[in-house]
Amino acid sequence: MIIKTDQNQIQSYLTDAANYKGYCEAVYFPENEEELIEIVKKANSDKKRITVAGNGTGLTGARVPEGGIVIATGKLNRILEINPAGKYAVVQTGVVMSDFKKSVNEKNLFYPPDPTEQNCYIGATVATNASGAKTFKYGPTRNFVNGLHIILPDGEKLVLERGRHFANGYDIKLETVSGKTIKCKLPGYEMPRTKHTAGYYCKRNMDVIDLFIGSEGTLGIITQIKLKLLPKPEEIISAVAFFRNESNALDFISESRELSYRSRKHNTEKNINAMGLEFFDGNSLNFLKQDFPKLPETSAAVWFEQDCRAENKNEILEKWINLLSKHNADLDKSWIAETGKDQKEFHEFRHAISSKVNEYITRNNFRKIGTDTAVPHDKFKEFYYYSKRLVEETGIDYVAYGHFGNSHLHLNMLPKNEAEFETAKKLYGKILKKAVELKGTISAEHGIGKLKRNYLLEMFGEENIRKMAQLKKCIDPDLILGIGNLFEERFFYQ
Ligand SMILES: Cc1cc2nc3c(=O)[nH]c(=O)nc-3n(C[C@H](O)[C@H](O)[C@H](O)COP(=O)(O)OP(=O)(O)OC[C@H]3O[C@@H](n4cnc5c(N)ncnc54)[C@H](O)[C@@H]3O)c2cc1C
Repeated sequence: MIIKTDQNQIQSYLTDAANYKGYCEAVYFPENEEELIEIVKKANSDKKRITVAGNGTGLTGARVPEGGIVIATGKLNRILEINPAGKYAVVQTGVVMSDFKKSVNEKNLFYPPDPTEQNCYIGATVATNASGAKTFKYGPTRNFVNGLHIILPDGEKLVLERGRHFANGYDIKLETVSGKTIKCKLPGYEMPRTKHTAGYYCKRNMDVIDLFIGSEGTLGIITQIKLKLLPKPEEIISAVAFFRNESNALDFISESRELSYRSRKHNTEKNINAMGLEFFDGNSLNFLKQDFPKLPETSAAVWFEQDCRAENKNEILEKWINLLSKHNADLDKSWIAETGKDQKEFHEFRHAISSKVNEYITRNNFRKIGTDTAVPHDKFKEFYYYSKRLVEETGIDYVAYGHFGNSHLHLNMLPKNEAEFETAKKLYGKILKKAVELKGTISAEHGIGKLKRNYLLEMFGEENIRKMAQLKKCIDPDLILGIGNLFEERFFYQ
């Protein structure tokens, strides 16, 4: 097993895509589960802290260590099985998403969770309950996780299969492979009904596997995952539509959403039923102009996708075109994918906006100030205009885009200097507060990590954060794993 202690060689493990910076003594690269268990047991007996690292594309500082050691999961990277008959796959944690998708595709299968950044590890997407464009139809990563192998902070191994272990009310009992039993209490709070991944998942009588999904490397180290797969869609309709008027684009999304819900309710295959509904405001389009010179001068764009049967494709496409006309889309300039290559390009177009923002932030040496908020659909427009207005009043540059099918806004501020950065932080706080007021969430997909823990406190309140800390302490009594993620350490001692 490789262990690196030379600080020059471990720099990449001391940061992530949000440009949050940390420090540690050493990075360990286990090549199998046994080695990983050995590291965890030793760290536990030495009371040394562990931070688990995926591929560092996280946007919250969650994988950035604040002391202790890092366990890098990149060498646990084997796809163990893809089973077309059973429609499932078994993978090690460090498999890269794009490699996994390619292998699944070759077997004529489909794995819908698709974070815009495909360079992430599958285990980390489970740890963050990642989402993507297709979450609008298929839900987040959670919906596709059917089994987990987890190494607990004391080195004990836990094997969980969906449908086998349930909480009794808010009481859970974990039984490890060696027979150790751990009894804990779930925090018992209500989660928002929007798309949401902030803090521990908690529902009365819930499946215990859901506690570990989205727990951001604080409760255990995932080593192996069983994922549900679907048959590969026969056809995908994919288009980027341009609108001269932003409110037309928002109305188009609202109506597409309603029509999609109706199709799902009535199980119809010939109507509009979007897989993804992604929005870009005019600032985002201007920001991308240099990289995509064929972008027309316009106020907003919507990238939508629908999976369908070949026999229905033309009929559905016609319905989309009628809907676009109804909402005054600029049909002549809009892009409709004719080939798989076009579809890939649209995905790259969507990826470009997120990665260009991250590049800007890193180049200027700021930390990312971008919202990951979702609110109930009927409150979305109010929230969207509130957020934009707030930023526009200060003159700070920004881009607004996101998974609007899920009423999920990424508003990224682009400060030009330290003073603007400080103002942006204040605005960010106000926007998150508004999302909570509207019964939404401060994080719909990126999680909390270290950057957003103060906002998690605002969202859930001291009492619930203390309950989260007690749950964490019950599973990790020596406070070894992922310390600093979700909440501050002081909550362990209150
Ligand atoms: C351009 C860009 C676009 C993005 N778009 C999206 C998007 O659309 N949707 C979305 O959800 N996210 C998105 N992200 C965020 C990021 O890609 C996801 O959070 C992803 O899940 C992180 O994966 P990673 O391998 O880089 O993990 P890291 O950043 O290295 O780690 C993330 C967290 O997972 C934990 N972790 C990693 N492996 C394990 C393990 N084996 N066991 C326990 N905990 C573990 C870490 O401790 C940390 O808490 C985007 C990021 C970028 C840069």
